[in-house]
Amino acid sequence: MNSITPGADVLLARWSALRVRARDIAADAVVIGGGSDLSYLTGHDGHSYERLTAAVSLTSPDAPSALLITPKLEAERITPQPGVFEIGPWEDAEDPIALAAGALPETGSVLVSDDLNANHVLALQERCPNLSFRALNESLGGMRAVKTSAERKALQAVGALVDVVHQQIQDGEVPLVGRSELDVKEDIAQRLLAAGHDEVVFVIVASGPNSASPHHHPSNRVIEANEMVLFDFGGIYKGFNSDCTRCFFTGPLPEDVAAAWSSLVAAQEAAFQAARPGNRLCDVDLAARNALTADGYGPEFIHRTGHGIGTEVHEHPYVTSTNQTPIVTGNAFSIEPGIYRAGEWGMRLEDIVVIEDDGPVRCNGTKREIVTVS
Ligand code: ZN
Ligand code: ZN
Ligand code: ZN
Repeated sequence: MNSITPGADVLLARWSALRVRARDIAADAVVIGGGSDLSYLTGHDGHSYERLTAAVSLTSPDAPSALLITPKLEAERITPQPGVFEIGPWEDAEDPIALAAGALPETGSVLVSDDLNANHVLALQERCPNLSFRALNESLGGMRAVKTSAERKALQAVGALVDVVHQQIQDGEVPLVGRSELDVKEDIAQRLLAAGHDEVVFVIVASGPNSASPHHHPSNRVIEANEMVLFDFGGIYKGFNSDCTRCFFTGPLPEDVAAAWSSLVAAQEAAFQAARPGNRLCDVDLAARNALTADGYGPEFIHRTGHGIGTEVHEHPYVTSTNQTPIVTGNAFSIEPGIYRAGEWGMRLEDIVVIEDDGPVRCNGTKREIVTVS
């Protein structure tokens, strides 16, 4: 859960940008279920579950403020934002779908956010047979995919905080050999907070053969000498996420590891250079993928090159080999190619970049070397 409390002016700007984009694709209304899109638009971190939480709004230029439908028992903790939304509380004996339907037009097209539960979507469809429903994020290419300059600055700021911790590991301030992954994870979490994050979101510590599992969950495994340790972690600062990966080796680098790492660095740099307005997202993925394939590591690069990031760690746009969406100023995403040799080691190099008019800018600055630590 992300805590963000932007002011009414910021929220209003977000709503009007959404309404304009929705009108551009001939959508007459939006339904935003509880989740990250809702907190982005209202500052309320409510989640949809069996009880409906959703903001409903028309998209016309003269649309009244949104209706934030919420279970009455949660209405108390919503900060009122007059002019941005009205609160529409409902009690358990009432029908919230009727409330939502009442705020929608009779006919037309409605965009529904990813977080609205299927039970609510199906009920709405049944109640409003003359409306057609589309997926909001899919249709818009990500409601939050284009960041304002203030949002890009927020990503730079939180990136600097995660760098502090990777720097501490690179400087040898975090002992590794002889400690369990879980022990080190706790240490890292403390350091993320000490560096200034408001909240720790995730910490991956993957040692030895565990590093070959990209989303490894830290375990009781004790880190040994002469092996890989992969660190991928991030937190939230002022509502925006950090996410950065660096790798370490607890001894002299074996030749195969050194060779793979230098190929990985080159692949990440090639992807970085491709991340500019005018190119497509698939160009970024393919830059990394082709570089690794040319060096013989193609089959061991088993995931997409990156993901958008903002108020969520993973959000649009996704950097895949098939995403033909053009890159535009304001996009923000990770560039994180990896090489995974099952049973032996895995490595990944991840930086967040924001796209400015003249190209990509990294949000992370610790050196992109595999550092020997003990
Ligand atoms: Zn991941
Ligand atoms: Zn990561
Ligand atoms: Zn990532």
